[in-house]
Amino acid sequence: MGFPVTYYCPHCGALAELERDAYLADKAVTPYPFEGWEYAAPDEAFEDADGVRFVCGEDGTLVPGEDGCGEPFYLSFVRFANGEELDPRVPSEYVELAEGNDPRGPSQPDSPDGPTGGFY
Ligand SMILES: [Zn+2]
Repeated sequence: MGFPVTYYCPHCGALAELERDAYLADKAVTPYPFEGWEYAAPDEAFEDADGVRFVCGEDGTLVPGEDGCGEPFYLSFVRFANGEELDPRVPSEYVELAEGNDPRGPSQPDSPDGPTGGFY
């Protein structure tokens, strides 16, 4: 049912392997958890969580030959809310701040029907 996917520890570069369902979409592997994401251990039912919390070299996910550093790292799945992908790395406040810093229009008030449709 699952298939193995490999991830690199962001601390030491050790290669970990996780068997998981195909429908899950990876978002990122980070050395810290995303705020609001719920993480499960690799041997738990992480399909019901928002991501997986690895402990490098401690949880049995490293491929043979890798030692690991003992540090935790986090695999975060893609999450959606109201049909839009959540991305904690690009909070909406950042986008508003960037637009507000536009030197050509510093007094432009926030418009409720302003530009929409993503971060790009
Ligand atoms: Zn490591």
